[in-house]
Amino acid sequence: MPEPLPPGELLALDRQHVWHPYGPMPGRTAPLLVESASGVRLRLAEPVEGRDELVDGMSSWWSAVHGYNHPVLNDAAQGQLGRMSHVMFGGLTHEPAVRLAKRLVDITPEPLEHVFLADSGSVSVEVAVKMCLQYWRSLGKPRKQRLLTWRGGYHGDTWQPMSVCDPDGGMHELWQGALPRQIFADAPPAGFDAAPDEAYAAQLRELIARHADELAAVIVEPVVQGAGGMSFHSPGYLRVLREACDAHGVLLVFDEIATGFGRTGALFAAEHAGVAPDVMCLGKALTGGYLTLAATLCTTAVADGISRGALPVLAHGPTFMGNPLATAVADASIELLLSQDWAQEVKRIEAGLRDGLAPARSIAGVRDVRVLGAIGVVQLDHEVDMAAATRAAVREGVWLRPFRDLIYTMPPYITGDGDVARICAAVCSAAREG
Ligand SMILES: *Cc1c(COP(=O)(O)O)cnc(C)c1O
Repeated sequence: MPEPLPPGELLALDRQHVWHPYGPMPGRTAPLLVESASGVRLRLAEPVEGRDELVDGMSSWWSAVHGYNHPVLNDAAQGQLGRMSHVMFGGLTHEPAVRLAKRLVDITPEPLEHVFLADSGSVSVEVAVKMCLQYWRSLGKPRKQRLLTWRGGYHGDTWQPMSVCDPDGGMHELWQGALPRQIFADAPPAGFDAAPDEAYAAQLRELIARHADELAAVIVEPVVQGAGGMSFHSPGYLRVLREACDAHGVLLVFDEIATGFGRTGALFAAEHAGVAPDVMCLGKALTGGYLTLAATLCTTAVADGISRGALPVLAHGPTFMGNPLATAVADASIELLLSQDWAQEVKRIEAGLRDGLAPARSIAGVRDVRVLGAIGVVQLDHEVDMAAATRAAVREGVWLRPFRDLIYTMPPYITGDGDVARICAAVCSAAREG
């Protein structure tokens, strides 16, 4: 082990050399220095606002559903490390990848049969788009190469995913002329329980019908739009999309990278609608937050279409495809999830969030409070003052990462009732001060 560096020096070097997500260089605000993490607690290298430990309200961006330093996942990683941490996937295969693929096929909607293992969520979306475009090329319809989505979405930061992110909230203006031009419907009307709006459903049908000749696929986040605005919509619209896609020969892609593995109260958000996509992306909680891994699943019809084309292969193959360490931990994480009554835990957290966030409704400047599954959102009527909101949460002993006008939480499923209440109190404080 190298000699540990003192916190002050680490932070100075970080500022000098290290990019952080969506950050300038050098960074404007100092990140908190985490020394270790266990259960739902992050341990800081030095106290901030009098706290050296924070309850994690973010699951490290939807991923650490079992919390940190979990003995079962540690065992899976250590066991695999002793065999091999990596081996190339071209021409070789191994048990962790095969077991994981079989498990994903078993737990996802019925017609999804084939699994492409990618190394991040954005790449899995790139692969999904490539599958869809290549499918239509193989079938002699190369004009079908555009995508349709609804506004308010988020699908990742690489090129194709960026092109279907919300065109107003995202970085579209910066990239005008450089991004593929996709087709956007209005954002779905808000409310998981709201009755589907017939006029909106008609808009979806009309757009799909009108653009069918040039559309390869419709891609959406089912039920919850995450980083695009943390909004919830009726599962009914997913059925509308399924029917319209079938009627007009367009593929349907569900990006379940944020919603997968129980977060919304169903194992996959598609289950709320009772429909299956042709292609599905998974990531984030796939490895329980341990390692980067994502997966793109598709139906046999899509796989057959591609494999019958002029280039009868799926033209993609990342260096670290099917990484043994990541697939072993992912398989263990899913087994761990399914071995317990995860739905009950998510319901328990949902009830705690509903109770704990209710007082936020009467805070000045709060526009909306919404909860679905283990997701709690307080939306302000103004841009959050990130520094002030973060400080307020840290003072309550909680880690939150607000963005735009949103202060939100999606805690690990192991979060106890007391800690859920504490997270809610911190969200309220952040809403008051941010
Ligand atoms: C996070 C996210 C992605 C991108 O995943 P990365 O692993 O960050 O590349 C794509 N789609 C959705 C819905 C996401 O939440």
